[in-house]
Amino acid sequence: MKFLVDTHAHTIASTHAYSTLHDYLNVAKEKGIKLFAITDHGPDMADAPHFWHFVNMRVLPRIVDGVGVLRGIEANIKNLQGEIDFFGDYLQQLDIVLAGFHEPVFPPSTAENHTQALINCIESGKVDIISHPGNPAYPIDIERVAQAAAKHNVALEINNSSFLTSRKGSEKSCTAIAQAVKEAGGLLVMGSDSHVAFSLGDFDKAEEVIEAVQFPIERLLNRSPEALLCFLSARGHDSLDEYAELV
Ligand SMILES: [Zn+2]
Ligand SMILES: [Zn+2]
Repeated sequence: MKFLVDTHAHTIASTHAYSTLHDYLNVAKEKGIKLFAITDHGPDMADAPHFWHFVNMRVLPRIVDGVGVLRGIEANIKNLQGEIDFFGDYLQQLDIVLAGFHEPVFPPSTAENHTQALINCIESGKVDIISHPGNPAYPIDIERVAQAAAKHNVALEINNSSFLTSRKGSEKSCTAIAQAVKEAGGLLVMGSDSHVAFSLGDFDKAEEVIEAVQFPIERLLNRSPEALLCFLSARGHDSLDEYAELV
């Protein structure tokens, strides 16, 4: 099965990334990607875009040449309370909200603290997807997090970049996460976490993890644009009507 939906991509708005929206659209067309999300880093990261970057995403076309572009963020989890660095009505105007741990904002702590912060973030209702929960720098109680995510209809990400360019040693924890989400009846999503357009929609390593645990395809959000859009609608995003032609 070819997966044509990607929920995680950074543009030059995060200056350690190297592609524009146009670059991503070109690659999407080449590869047949149907729907992807622009998810630059939340404002608390050192080289993240300003808060207004996210506010003004309303100027972006939703569909270009048949490719859907979701307006998103990869927010930072800031503290034990699971708060993130984007808030208010502006959060509701985005189509998709990822959040995760990043060292400059939340320095690695104890497994109990990571677990509590993630569960609080999941319970807050503000976040659709937890990005790279398998990062070995942030050990967690995987079963507790998987159960909280399943209960609150939050997806956990299997991040393809974690096996290639960052977060070395993620295989074991990501496989355990996939297994725990399977057992908890929850949702998984694969993200390329592209920092350059060439890797958009690349999930080779993440697919190996999914296959290793025989994760049920009907609970994998990348399986179709419809699957992701239904999930986001159920999460309360009411801005998705214009994507209907993709499904
Ligand atoms: Zn990240
Ligand atoms: Zn990212």
